[in-house]
Amino acid sequence: MKIAIGRIVSLDYRLHLGDGDIIDESLPGDPFVYLHGSGQIVPGLERGLEGLSMGDARNLVVPPADGYGEYQADGLQEVPRTAFPRDVDPREGMQFEARSPKGETFPMTVKEVKRESIVVDLNHPLAGKTLHFDVKVLGVREATPAELSHGHAHGPKGGHEH
Ligand code: ZN
Repeated sequence: MKIAIGRIVSLDYRLHLGDGDIIDESLPGDPFVYLHGSGQIVPGLERGLEGLSMGDARNLVVPPADGYGEYQADGLQEVPRTAFPRDVDPREGMQFEARSPKGETFPMTVKEVKRESIVVDLNHPLAGKTLHFDVKVLGVREATPAELSHGHAHGPKGGHEH
């Protein structure tokens, strides 16, 4: 069975930036499981996996536009210290989950701490980076109706139980 929209895929993966440093990887015996076509993974990775079968291994190189996006200079913003909760002591390099007015969460990195304000970077930490995914497909199966309606994988390795 090939990887296609509406199928559940399990894979071992390793993400690096081409310089040897590993950003993220699945642990042995604990594969990443996702619903293909649901936008759970970056578009370039999803496209690269399309059509692969169990046992296939690939080194997929994903440019920023198909990964976490280009780096946006206007993602750097200066916000007043009062915008942070009182019990938070922001320091350079710290990452926060910020919440938009619509309730979506997004990562935010502290770039500079000033006396009255904080410079934050709203770009994803991997924005502007070319992503290298070393992947091995461990399994492909049809999604259940419940998985399709929820838009994610279920089961012991799906990271989501009902
Ligand atoms: Zn669910």
